[in-house]
Order: sequence, then structure tokens, then C-alpha cells
Amino acid sequence: MSVTLFSKIIDREIPADIIFEDDQCLAFRDINPQAPTHFLVIPKKPIPKLSDAVAEDQALLGHLLLVASQVAKQEGLDDFRLNVNNGAGASQTVFHLHVHVLGGRPFSWPPG
Ligand code: 5GP
Repeated sequence: MSVTLFSKIIDREIPADIIFEDDQCLAFRDINPQAPTHFLVIPKKPIPKLSDAVAEDQALLGHLLLVASQVAKQEGLDDFRLNVNNGAGASQTVFHLHVHVLGGRPFSWPPG
């Protein structure tokens, strides 16, 4: 499995504005924010994309959502958008599973 940018952020080999960490995951601000608040929640386990997750990852996946919600609250967000890009055709560019959390502006539906 190739080492991605996000593994290097976990290992503190490259800097990031980390706003939450526990034994299973990390949250840090996106370097190219698409909203006034935009952070990423990633598992420490290097799962390339959501569709690579397996049954034993069930609790971890739930944990990522709870952390996303908890950190959004910490950031003062009542309303926010979660986004997971799965695969290059869905605009995934970093192949280490991540949940985008965006807030601080209105979002339309359906997304583009
Ligand atoms: P994707 O397109 O794979 O769903 O999202 C990858 C996200 O990672 C993008 O929003 C991009 O701005 C962010 N990103 C890429 N490289 C870095 C980096 O080195 N540091 C941080 N904090 N975010 C990054």
C-alpha cells in the first residue's frame, strides 16, 4: 500500500493544522478550504477509499462520523455538510479515506 500525504500528516512528517486526535483518527483543516470551515477526518488505519473498508472497520467508520459531528460542534457549527469522495471518478485525489466536513455557508442540494 503506498504512503499518502495523509499518512505523513499522521506521522508528523508534514505539518497540518490538527484540531482533534485520538487513538483511531485525526481531524485537520483542509489546505484548500471550500467553505469558511473545512476540515478532514481520517482514520489512522490507511484505508485507501470507503469501498475498501470491510466488516471489521464498521466501528471505525461509525467513529469517524461521531468525531466529525463532535468536532463540527466544537467549531461552532450547527449546520454542516459531510462529503466522502470515493474514487477518482468522484473527485477523490488523496487515496487515504477521509470525511470532508464543511460549514459556515449555505449548501445546495443536489450537489454538483
Ligand atoms: P479529495 O479530493 O481526495 O476528496 O480531497 C482531498 C483533500 O485534501 C482536498 O480538499 C485537498 O485540499 C486536501 N489536501 C491535499 N493535500 C493536503 C495537505 O497537504 N494538507 C492538507 N491539510 N490538506 C490537503
